Amino acid sequence: MLPSTEALDFERIIVTTNSLDTQIASIQTQCLTAIEQAHTTQQLESARVTFLGRQGEIAKLMDALKGMSVEQKKEFGPKLNTLKQNCQAAFDEKQSGIDQKQLLAAAQREQNFDVSAYIPNQLTGTIHPYTQIIEHIENIFNSMGFTITDGPEIETDFYNFTALNIPPDHPARDLHDTFWLAHEKNLLLRTHTSTAQIRAMQTQKPPIALCVNGRVYRHEATDATHDFQFMQTECMVIDKGISMANLLAGTQSILRALFEQSNLEIRVRPGYFPFVEPGIEVDITCPFCQGKGCSTCKRTGWIEAGGAGLIHPNVLKSGGIDPNIYSGWALGFGLTRLVMLKYGIPDIRLLHGNSLNFLKQF
Ligand SMILES: [Zn+2]
Repeated sequence: MLPSTEALDFERIIVTTNSLDTQIASIQTQCLTAIEQAHTTQQLESARVTFLGRQGEIAKLMDALKGMSVEQKKEFGPKLNTLKQNCQAAFDEKQSGIDQKQLLAAAQREQNFDVSAYIPNQLTGTIHPYTQIIEHIENIFNSMGFTITDGPEIETDFYNFTALNIPPDHPARDLHDTFWLAHEKNLLLRTHTSTAQIRAMQTQKPPIALCVNGRVYRHEATDATHDFQFMQTECMVIDKGISMANLLAGTQSILRALFEQSNLEIRVRPGYFPFVEPGIEVDITCPFCQGKGCSTCKRTGWIEAGGAGLIHPNVLKSGGIDPNIYSGWALGFGLTRLVMLKYGIPDIRLLHGNSLNFLKQF
């Protein structure tokens, strides 16, 4: 052991650390002055290298910390960090000030601005066309006193077929190219939103007025106008004394509101849907040419709007509603087709893809 040497080392460090406070204060003053006096990017960069750089004055002080005792590190470590933060903050502030001045100066020099310049902060999202139309439809139905509802997309045979008057071996089942779920034969992906009718009848008492906007699935090849997944809108009214007159008036009011055309006319043709009797197909005067004839309506002045009818007594019974007391009407149409018509979308695959170039147009 050499006590004299130890004493000497200790004394040297005391001297160094006593002067460290002074050095910290001195470097802070020099650095802040240099930053304050910088008026160009070059002058500011030179101040940064001198004080904040990897081999700058502050880094040198940090190096001195390595030779100190734990107590001294505890005392001077925070002081040096504060020095570095103060100098860095002054540098950042000055730099943004110089950047602003340079931009202004450049703007004054330039007579022509590039109005198409990319401004990343102003990129905003858009609302998907489906969502836009669904909000529109829901507003209309809400204002007419309908409730908005939906049901599960994985359904049982009962809700998708049997309860809707399509028992096993009924030929209408062939019209629905159904996705059966492999492990549980009774489960399927719903082929229409009419499933929600039965669920509503089972849980609500008439009068019932509901609207469903939902995804449905059909096992078919995809092309420009077909997809294995699309959307349907469905509405249903059940009360005492509901008749064909209610159906026609309700359908016309809804379609007029939907296309925002008060003079829109409907015409009906007989149609077959197992869950209604009688069933009708509804056409409307072409909302794009007001019935004059255009390419959308193939010059006929009419376009198909959807299917409707008075709810079949068997369906009411399946839902637990007595068809001797109550009657009802239902209307369904292809929401996907409506969106494609309204926005002039030529290919259903665009609507179901996620191309930003396509979606940002809406
Ligand atoms: Zn037309």
